[in-house]
Amino acid sequence: MPIADPLKLQIAQKKLLMVKICRKCGARNAPTAERCRKCRSYNLRWKKRSVQK
Ligand SMILES: [Zn+2]
Repeated sequence: MPIADPLKLQIAQKKLLMVKICRKCGARNAPTAERCRKCRSYNLRWKKRSVQK
């Protein structure tokens, strides 16, 4: 679904992308997380994919 409002798009991007993903189990973690809350792996990556306009 395309988002026309640039402000809403910005909010949506923050909500969707400000998250860390565990490379081991794929769990979503807080942006402040240093390790996975599920499997306690330190192998986290930033979710980096922009929202489709
Ligand atoms: Zn994990």
